[in-house]
Amino acid sequence: MRVRRVACPGSFDPVTNGHVDIIRRAATLHDEVIVVVGANRAKHGMFTVDERVAMLEEVTAGLPNVSVETFRGLLVDYCRDRGVSAIVKGLRAVSDFEYEMEMAQMNYRLAGIETLFMTANPLYSFLRSSLIREIAAYGGDVSSLVPPPVEARLRARLAELAQG
Ligand code: ADP
Repeated sequence: MRVRRVACPGSFDPVTNGHVDIIRRAATLHDEVIVVVGANRAKHGMFTVDERVAMLEEVTAGLPNVSVETFRGLLVDYCRDRGVSAIVKGLRAVSDFEYEMEMAQMNYRLAGIETLFMTANPLYSFLRSSLIREIAAYGGDVSSLVPPPVEARLRARLAELAQG
């Protein structure tokens, strides 16, 4: 039997409850889910790629058919190499649509890779990693927006930055 392996790509700097919601739902629909952390532009982030992977592994530890990997280069090349049949993305709002549609069509044109969209959980549809970083940097409470290990790492990183 063919394994239905899908990829959930992103920068995950850091992973939020919105990401986890999509990953969890994708894992109920497909045999295997690989969460792939893009490393092309990761240098400018708050967390290193290794830290992002570690957080993702921690928060998906209870999902046996989910694994975490990184990729550099074109996502479609990664998908072909790893036998991924489709990319799963979450759609938060109309504002996501234009960009995601363009990427999906380009990825199909480049390599025949399908993209499947899941609508964001309305509890998390306003959530993006950059906003989490900003709220946390100004001392806001993000405890209901990110998994507990992520909140702890955010605090630790901000303390490091404050010390210079
Ligand atoms: P962001 O920095 O905007 O959170 P990422 O590149 O880390 O973006 O996100 C990867 C993908 O995860 C996005 O393209 C989107 O499909 C999905 N995603 C991100 N945040 C959410 C959310 N709150 N709800 C549903 N899907 C989301």
